[in-house]
This record gives sequence, C-alpha cells and structure tokens, in this order.
Amino acid sequence: MPMNLLTKNDHIIEIILSLFRWVFLLIAGSYYYLYLDGNSFGFLILFIFGLVYMGISELALRKTGINSKAYLIMTKVSVVFDYAAFLWLVSLTGGSGSPFFPIAYLLILHVAVYWKFSGGIIASFLLGAGYTVILNLKGYSFEDEQLIAYLFDCMFLFFMGVLGGIIVSRERTMRSKNTKLEDIARQDFLTDLYNHRAFQEDLHICSEDNHSLMLVLSDIDYFKSVNDRFGHLVGDDVLKQIGTVVKEELKDDGRAYRYGGEEIAFIMDATNSEEAKACLLRIQSVIRKLRFTAHAEHFSVTMSYGTAIFPPEGSIDECLRIADERLYEAKRLGRNRICWFDEQVEEGHAR
Ligand code: GH3
Ligand code: MG
Ligand code: MG
Repeated sequence: MPMNLLTKNDHIIEIILSLFRWVFLLIAGSYYYLYLDGNSFGFLILFIFGLVYMGISELALRKTGINSKAYLIMTKVSVVFDYAAFLWLVSLTGGSGSPFFPIAYLLILHVAVYWKFSGGIIASFLLGAGYTVILNLKGYSFEDEQLIAYLFDCMFLFFMGVLGGIIVSRERTMRSKNTKLEDIARQDFLTDLYNHRAFQEDLHICSEDNHSLMLVLSDIDYFKSVNDRFGHLVGDDVLKQIGTVVKEELKDDGRAYRYGGEEIAFIMDATNSEEAKACLLRIQSVIRKLRFTAHAEHFSVTMSYGTAIFPPEGSIDECLRIADERLYEAKRLGRNRICWFDEQVEEGHAR
C-alpha cells in the first residue's frame, strides 16, 4: 500500500541488520568450534536460540507487510533479543576482551533508528550496565589497566549513543521536512485530496507490491450543469466539500486523489473486499446526502463509480483501464451508481 512508503528505508536497515546477525551467528559458530572445541554447553544453547530466532525474524521480515503488527513487534523484540544475545555472547567469549564487544555499537544505532536520541543514550547506558554486571559476574577486578579498559569501553558506548542519536535525529528531522514538502507537491489545492501526480506515483509503487487493492474511478454527475446554474465558485465549493467528506470517510482504508476536474480516484485496501465495498458505499451515501445551498436554492449531487480489483483483474494499468470502462458503464446505465468489479451494479436512489 502507498501508506507504507515512509518506512521503506527502515525496512532496508532491518534487512541489513538481519544480514549482520547471520554473519555474527556464523562467526560465533566458528568461534565455538575453533576456540572452544565445541565444549561450551552455554554457547550451544545460545547458538540454537539464535538460529531459531533468526529463522522466525527472517520470516517476519520477508513475509509480513512492512506496517503489519507482526513486523512491528518483531523489529522491536529484536532489539531485546540482540541485547540479551550480546551480553550472553560477550560473557561466553572472555568478557572485557571479547572480540564481539563492537556489536554493542550496532545495537545502539539500531535502537536509535526507532527511539532516536533518547533511544541512543538509553541503549548506551543499558549496554554499559549489562556489560558491568557481566564483568562483575566474571570476577573482573576493575583495577589499574582493567579499570581503564573498562572505562574506555563505557565511554565509547556513551559516545556512540550520543553521536548515533544525533545523526538519526537529524536524519529524521530532514526526512519529516522533506515529507512535508513532498506532501505539498502531492496535494490538490482545491479539494485537499492527493493530486494526479501522487496518484500516478502511488500506482507505480502499488504495481510493484502484490497487496490486494480496489481501484475506483469516480466522476460527479452533470457537474457542468451545477456550474452553469450557480457559477464556478459554487462548483468549486461543491468539489471542496466532497473532498472533505471523502477524506473523513476513507480514513486509513485508502487514499483519494483528484484525478481530474470533477473526477476522484481511490486506491483502497482490499485485503477484505467486502469491507472495501462497504467503505465505498458509505462514501457514495454521504456524498448523496450532502446538501448545498446557492442563490437561495438547495441542491445535491451524485457520482458514478467504476471499480477494479488488483491483482486478480490484471496489472495496475489494466485495472485502471477496467475501472474507467466501468465508470463509463455506470454513466451509460443512468449515472448515480457503482459498477462493481464483480459485475453487480449498485443502483442509486432518486435525487
Ligand atoms: P457527466 O455526468 O457525463 O460526467 O456530466 P458532466 O457535466 O459532469 O461532465 P462534463 O465532462 O460535460 O463536465 C465536467 C464539468 O466539470 C465541466 C467543468 O466546467 C467542470 N469542472 C472541472 N473542474 C472544475 C473545477 O475545478 N471547478 C469547477 N467549478 N468546475 C470544474
Ligand atoms: Mg468528467
Ligand atoms: Mg461529470
């Protein structure tokens, strides 16, 4: 869905981190055999735990939608897993001199991606605290050079937390500014819906994704006569009000775009096609019920709709063409109706 666009960069970070984990798992496995001669039961348990966890997280990364609950839970839980696995690994591989200690810097950066500056700082403190506990348990003396080495480790954790936090926060601020500018460039000024450019962009993204969607093309019936009777300013106000109610009704179920003059396109989530249909019926009903007043006259407008379902009905472009044909069919059948993808035609009520 186009709604997921903003998290695509984070998804790439998750894939890279997942790759790193596999690499560490491989290195840890080799370390286990080469240096510990396969003799550490704790290491074996950690290795098996890592394998199972990686299998599950890989599945969540690749098979669930970027904004799905499973994905979000998995990425957050992975931080806790990484923390526990890191401390475990460090404790099994020599404590302060562990070659795996720099993994902590990656963990800090990962946390900062989600919780920015405060996340980076908190992660560095939690890692420092956990590291201190591990060293204590391993009988570390905290004297002379050992103390200096320990303090250096903690200092680098803290510096990494600060720097990582700042870099991520800066990137997020820039991104949100860019997003705002992009939003303005993608918005239709009159209706406050997305514009045609946004529609084309989102369609392109949807075509790469196999997410189930309902495409809708709609057109206000006899809109020219509204302009002719009441003037273009009133016509503009009608478009504006329709834009407002469409947005309100659609909420998170999809996006609405001003396709052209008095034409509105929708890209709707159709994971449950009955829900998508119910949502469009709601929009149709609310628009019909809108009452406009001009020159002491009251009037209302109706719309005609053509729908298509992606991917079953073909590529995105084919679906768009089919939705357009169905819109014309709705017009031909007398307007004020929806021509559904499953052929049933939703008759309108008299105005
Ligand atoms: P149909 O039911 O066949 O769609 O009839 P229609 O009158 O809506 O269709 P037609 O294509 O003949 O007219 C569309 C009208 O929409 C003509 C144009 O003036 C009006 N229109 C398009 N964009 C705007 C706009 O931004 N503001 C106003 N006020 N009118 C607009
Ligand atoms: Mg038109
Ligand atoms: Mg029209």
